[in-house]
Amino acid sequence: DGIGSQMDRVMTEEQWLQKWETGNTGFHKEQGHPLLRKYLDVLLNGRSGLRIFFPLCGKAVEMKWLADMGHDVVGVEVSEKALKEFFAEHGLPYCKEPVPEISGAKKFQCTSGNISLYCCSIYDLSSSVVGKFDGVWDRGALVAVNPCDRQRYVSLMITLMEKNSSYLLVTVSYDPSKHKGPPFYVPESEIKSLFG
Ligand code: SAH
Repeated sequence: DGIGSQMDRVMTEEQWLQKWETGNTGFHKEQGHPLLRKYLDVLLNGRSGLRIFFPLCGKAVEMKWLADMGHDVVGVEVSEKALKEFFAEHGLPYCKEPVPEISGAKKFQCTSGNISLYCCSIYDLSSSVVGKFDGVWDRGALVAVNPCDRQRYVSLMITLMEKNSSYLLVTVSYDPSKHKGPPFYVPESEIKSLFG
């Protein structure tokens, strides 16, 4: 019934890893997202050489776009398979190293240095590890977070933003009684109260 039906739903990390293992990744957009093309100017706001964050990045091709424009891209993703596919599909050599501050985490960095992808849960990150960002591309991230974790997720994102950063958020609008999610339906009023 309505939005209430999604509020208790939980996708475990294991279930996300399983999606990557079985190729059940219909959310991945081979051609990149048209809304990033459309609103690129809003994200960049005339600035160059930005640090851009991709929460719950999957193997989003937009990371390559922004790196090619000269920005530094940082992503976080629980699936190692997703990250390996990202580098392989773009023919990018990378190295992989442990992250001393986060037990079990690995950092995949392309050899040219401007794409660093953390393989761990986003909840393990903090600005002391990844620094702060000038821009955020949130597509398939807030809407993929478990509804019970939204406030925690947004509070963390706010701590990762520089003062003048821009945040592009893509959500999906549909009747939440018809689909269990993810992607979850996050109403505009909730977005406003989450981000303040
Ligand atoms: N933003 C990407 C992927 C969206 S799907 C895109 O636009 O294509 C959501 C992704 O988040 C999945 O790849 C999943 O493995 C990852 N994920 C889920 N929970 C996570 C968490 N707590 N920390 C990091 N990644 C997570």
